[in-house]
Amino acid sequence: MTRETIVEGVRNGITSMHGLIAQGRGEAFDYLIGEKTTKSAAQAEKAAAAALLLAEKPVISVNGNVAALVPREIIRLSESVNAPLEVNLFHRTEERVNKIIEYLRSLGAKKMFTKSNGTIPGLEHERGKVDAEGILIADAVLVPLEDGDRCKALVEMGKIVLAIDLNPLSRTAQCATITIVDNITRAVPNISKFAEELKSLKKEALLELVSEFDNKRNLALAMEEIVKNLYGRGGIRTPDLQLSPEL
Ligand code: ATP
Ligand code: MG
Repeated sequence: MTRETIVEGVRNGITSMHGLIAQGRGEAFDYLIGEKTTKSAAQAEKAAAAALLLAEKPVISVNGNVAALVPREIIRLSESVNAPLEVNLFHRTEERVNKIIEYLRSLGAKKMFTKSNGTIPGLEHERGKVDAEGILIADAVLVPLEDGDRCKALVEMGKIVLAIDLNPLSRTAQCATITIVDNITRAVPNISKFAEELKSLKKEALLELVSEFDNKRNLALAMEEIVKNLYGRGGIRTPDLQLSPEL
């Protein structure tokens, strides 16, 4: 069903052909993590929800895969953490940007940054286009399925970058502030759920949740989850394997 949704996205001019390849890569990693939200992914989702609630100018970046797979869920998250949406495409065409904006609006999206009057330093012209009042000046950006170069450029601008990426080895996963190794179809509703739960907490408690989160450690747990699945179900023989007790 998910695959059909994304193919439909390509047919409707919302998702790029490259989006299909990214989806395939994502599906492969989803098998490896067991097609479920792991404990470490849930921890990252909770920390990301806290970071979004703490941010003064949070923005949620939307690309063609996100718009095809989780349009309603991303609008709901945008409302619950008060983070406007901004369409941010790797293979950018104004036509596709406008189609996605129209589509999200038709589903009820209200707060959106829609200009392309800003530039992320260090990126090639088309890749670096952003809204000067949106991603350019945001303090926290949620980037589901972001490219490694752009993730790095956003981090270098001093932003808190929250990435959703099923591949724990991708450059995006490795360079983001908080990496959620989970499928966007599970991650986006989970972040909304955590945001609702955390909303009533004091700022200090939210800060503690973010500061005690260790991204390197969390990525290592995602890798261990993969090894555990290969060891258990894939029959890999690694008798001396020592897994972390929290798995
Ligand atoms: P990078 O540029 O970060 O090194 P990449 O070039 O492999 O990695 P991109 O094409 O830039 O990746 O971005 C797509 C990423 O999104 C891939 O790592 C892929 O695993 C991941 N991905 C694809 N579909 C999903 C999904 N449904 N949920 C979460 N992640 C996904
Ligand atoms: Mg890439």
